[in-house]
Amino acid sequence: MPDRRNYFILVHPSIRPSSSVPSPFRRIQYTQEKFISSEGFILNIRHRVVIVGGGFAGLYAAQALKRAPVEVVLIDKRNFHLFQPLLYQVAAGGLSPGDIASPLRAVLKRQKNARVLLGEVTGLDLRQKQVILRDDVIPYDTLVLATGVRHSYFGHDQWEAIAPGLKTVEDATEMRRKILLAFEAAEREPDPSKRLAWMTFVIVGGGPTGVELAGALGELARSTLARDFRCIDPASARILLIEGGERVLPPFPPALSAKAEAGLRRLGVTVRVRTLVTAIAEDHVVVTHAGAQEIIPTRTVLWAAGVQASPLGKMLAGQTGVPLDRLGRVIVEPDLSVPGFPDILVIGDLAHFAHQHGTPLPGVAPVAMQQGRYAARRIVARLQDRPVKPFHYFDKGSMAVIGRAAAVADFKKFHFSGYPAWLIWLFVHLLYLVEYENRVLVLIQWAWSYFTRNRGARLITGQDIVLLKEARNGNPTGLSPAPGKIAGV
Ligand SMILES: Cc1cc2nc3c(=O)[nH]c(=O)nc-3n(C[C@H](O)[C@H](O)[C@H](O)COP(=O)(O)OP(=O)(O)OC[C@H]3O[C@@H](n4cnc5c(N)ncnc54)[C@H](O)[C@@H]3O)c2cc1C
Repeated sequence: MPDRRNYFILVHPSIRPSSSVPSPFRRIQYTQEKFISSEGFILNIRHRVVIVGGGFAGLYAAQALKRAPVEVVLIDKRNFHLFQPLLYQVAAGGLSPGDIASPLRAVLKRQKNARVLLGEVTGLDLRQKQVILRDDVIPYDTLVLATGVRHSYFGHDQWEAIAPGLKTVEDATEMRRKILLAFEAAEREPDPSKRLAWMTFVIVGGGPTGVELAGALGELARSTLARDFRCIDPASARILLIEGGERVLPPFPPALSAKAEAGLRRLGVTVRVRTLVTAIAEDHVVVTHAGAQEIIPTRTVLWAAGVQASPLGKMLAGQTGVPLDRLGRVIVEPDLSVPGFPDILVIGDLAHFAHQHGTPLPGVAPVAMQQGRYAARRIVARLQDRPVKPFHYFDKGSMAVIGRAAAVADFKKFHFSGYPAWLIWLFVHLLYLVEYENRVLVLIQWAWSYFTRNRGARLITGQDIVLLKEARNGNPTGLSPAPGKIAGV
């Protein structure tokens, strides 16, 4: 008797379902693994694929297994799939979190062979072939790890409390809170130097996330909030984008980086390249450029630099001896498996795959999606004892958006910038938003904010009012006494 918990008892595959067959046997499912029970029935145990992580990689793997003769168990610590490329829009108040997230159950509701489990995987037991949740263990036949990456502060973890990164919905709403709160505090700040600090926004990291965030912030300050305040001019906000390398958008061709920088300048963003952040505090950052240090007073620092792999990579390495790269990503075989463990695949941002070009593939959504689909093919081929070709990434190009109607697009042979690139960006992003309802909603939202320059999701939530009072240091309104009134009377 095979050692597996859930199995179906089915009649012999040669018997077709018919009205003469007792009803529980009518739902015949033909699978790869069949075992004869002592009663002569075929015990049909479906091969269980446990996928950890419902991001682009895990979700696309689960969906691609739709018609496969396997049982799919998708585990995620969140109950939704998040469209991370639009997180910056949430951070800048352009979209609400619900616009860019789809419940995993809803996405997979029609996929009969898939189950979704809400739970955080805290350990792996490879000897027993099971994953360990906080409150359960789930056995697997094939394990797919797709838990992605999180941001890294290059050994300065204490910066995280001051300079939020952008990876989760909570990160995005925290950024939105900080940004909107800064304008509110500036409106009530009589001291010009303190007001300047509230009106100074520092974004660390000039990759696509930093560029998109800076552009959206520039637009928020220059257009959306332009007429909302009485004491401050939001358009005068100082937005600094700090990049340690030679130029912004390092993976793009230099000409497109230059166009992106020009686009940012038009939105009031100052780009500082070859500049390193060496300290971050509540009311300032310290940067170093060409050996000279500068202290920049600011109350809002946003982190868009550096990633590190999910801790599951390290756990896996502890039990398999698989090498990790310096970001903690798992160095996988050409078929995305772990060396010596053909029943464990690592895909998406968590995988370091360098077999194609000698350098690791970038941590972008198309890599994760293609690896997810490949993992599914590889699992089915292995069940059928068929060989499978190594994974090959088909690179369709990259894009980054700079504000309301400008972007840069690098399609290898063709480069676009400005409005045409933005239209392509819009089309591609809508295409890949997982749920149809979301696409329509997001399109309407965008159309609305495009024509009205309004941003509907400018909500400050949480402990903000209290924080604002603290920040105002005992002057809760910031208003001078009303005419004819004497202070304190
Ligand atoms: C702000 C931002 C902007 C981006 N912009 C772009 C862009 O414009 N274009 C582009 O191509 N790419 C972009 N990316 C990159 C892209 O989003 C990633 O490459 C992609 O999401 C990777 O997919 P993944 O499935 O590997 O990981 P993720 O999408 O990160 O999914 C990982 C999943 O694992 C779950 N998880 C993690 N740990 C556990 C655990 N222990 N137990 C259970 N579940 C767990 C998480 O909840 C999550 O759902 C952006 C990323 C960010 C953060």
